[in-house]
Amino acid sequence: MKRDIQSLGGKTFDVLVIGGGITGACIAHDAALRGLAVALVEKGDFGGFTSSASSKLLHGGIRYLPKAQLWKIRESAREQAILQHVAPHLTQWVPFLIPTRKEAVMQGALALKAAMHIYRGICAGLTGLIRDSGKRPPRARFYQPGELFRRVPFLQGIGGITGAQELWESHMYSSERMVLAFVKTAVHNGAAAANYAEVVELLREGSRVTGALVKDVLTGTSFPVRAALVINAAGPYVQAVNRSVPALHLKKEITGFSRGVHLVARQVEDRYALALTTRQKTEGLITRGGRHFFIIPWRNRSLIGTTNVPFSGSPDDIRVSEKDIEEFLEEINRSVPGLNLARSDVFYAFTGLYPLISRKIKKDTYQGTGDYQIIDHARSDAIDGIVTALGAKYTTARLVAEKTVNLAAGKLPAPSSPCRTVEVRLSEGDIDDLEKFRRRCLEKYSSRLDQDVISHLIRYHGAESDHVVETGLHRNMLTRLHPAAFTLEVEVYLAVAEEMAQTLEDVVFRRTGLGTTGHPGQEALVRSAEIMGDLLGWDAQERERQIAAVNERYRYRSG
Ligand SMILES: Cc1cc2nc3c(=O)[nH]c(=O)nc-3n(C[C@H](O)[C@H](O)[C@H](O)COP(=O)(O)OP(=O)(O)OC[C@H]3O[C@@H](n4cnc5c(N)ncnc54)[C@H](O)[C@@H]3O)c2cc1C
Repeated sequence: MKRDIQSLGGKTFDVLVIGGGITGACIAHDAALRGLAVALVEKGDFGGFTSSASSKLLHGGIRYLPKAQLWKIRESAREQAILQHVAPHLTQWVPFLIPTRKEAVMQGALALKAAMHIYRGICAGLTGLIRDSGKRPPRARFYQPGELFRRVPFLQGIGGITGAQELWESHMYSSERMVLAFVKTAVHNGAAAANYAEVVELLREGSRVTGALVKDVLTGTSFPVRAALVINAAGPYVQAVNRSVPALHLKKEITGFSRGVHLVARQVEDRYALALTTRQKTEGLITRGGRHFFIIPWRNRSLIGTTNVPFSGSPDDIRVSEKDIEEFLEEINRSVPGLNLARSDVFYAFTGLYPLISRKIKKDTYQGTGDYQIIDHARSDAIDGIVTALGAKYTTARLVAEKTVNLAAGKLPAPSSPCRTVEVRLSEGDIDDLEKFRRRCLEKYSSRLDQDVISHLIRYHGAESDHVVETGLHRNMLTRLHPAAFTLEVEVYLAVAEEMAQTLEDVVFRRTGLGTTGHPGQEALVRSAEIMGDLLGWDAQERERQIAAVNERYRYRSG
């Protein structure tokens, strides 16, 4: 996959997708698979904005049960199953424990057992979509208090717990690689994609949008990209992108943002994910008491999320502050006495935005209702040639893409085939039997690579693991970047040569995930900058600048 930005200006595409988060990536993939001529532009790096700030969950939709949104439950569970099939290497089942309590009827053991029963009924038959039987979820069970506290002793500190209902949810090893896997497959199927390519203005002729003026962020030059249809999938920026055509409106306008912070901390539990409730009461605009938060085992750390604080600045300015970290730690420690998480237990923190479409702020973990909007502006605003897609979650992005491209296909003169994203696997996910594939890789590579590195390679590169190892052998780059890191030098090389990485941050936080569990050590950064610099022509000063930018990600705003 090459960043061939020149080719974007040379022809008229069927579809120009704006935004390379999970929504835009899925749309580009779907449209390319249908045979449409697709361009995808992303102003930063693929998956670098909201899509890199999630809890990495592919929710099966049980949270819609209290509101009896049965179709939404089935929709989420279906999409969750489809993602096991199309990206088997990036998804894994994690047992969530939902503690039950005596004092609240709806959180009682009976209520939760009944809820699970109903949930299973609604989702009946969906695991059949997962052809690899080894990728199907195990059956959930209920834990009595004795066994629960034996398994997760610190839960005793919470008090009032009468047991726990297990729920198997799907978690992504790397959400950034999920976005990239969609983009890579789209390019494999003919799409032209470029990161660091920013839409500065929509182009229009009368009441029709005909493309966009795109700025190459790396060189500063701008050029028009023409398309029969523009699809705006710019996440929190959708309104900013549409602003150049004042007549464009969303069905439900974004009224503000709420900011969610995650902590990547010392591992407090290595098997179970925990769905817990905060104790703190209302503070400021957002209700902070009784919020759910998750503690999820992830890459030998605990991924803990999320906070929920109002944000009124520009999306460009979001950063984690030391106050965010301290307050969240306080909330966690108050809610789970005995956990005693200290500031020094936090290795990394990141934040993202939930667009709000209501002035009323809810106390749920997710401000997002799970509702998405697909707007045909020809119908709503009498402006043709543009569609906006907003509000997709990782779980629903494939479906949102299917619906968006169905709409697009109906508006385009070019012929296209029906959607095939339910059956056709992503190129890195093209594995029939993951367990067999894993055994084969272990057999083949264990004389050269440690088992943890092989497992990491499979999770990151899936069906392309052989290509990574062969390139590493050929280039003598099968060395770990750091004795404790799973990442190999060859992955840095390939990130630049074949995955469009432009900056050290792209490599450290998105292509390899080297820095997502904490600072990877200066040595690893220097070596990565050397490998990248040789390919991209960085001098010593540029290498230093790139390293400094990565180090900055571990410095949080004071106050
Ligand atoms: C704290 C938090 C936790 C979450 N946890 C989960 C979870 O566990 N599971 C789940 O399914 N969902 C979760 N979500 C929701 C999910 O992450 C988002 O719904 C999803 O990532 C949105 O993807 P997107 O592509 O629409 O937006 P984004 O990822 O924001 O992508 C939009 C892209 O458009 C680009 N762009 C903007 N303007 C321009 C322009 N002018 N030109 C070119 N490109 C442009 C941006 O740079 C950006 O990369 C969470 C969200 C938050 C905030």
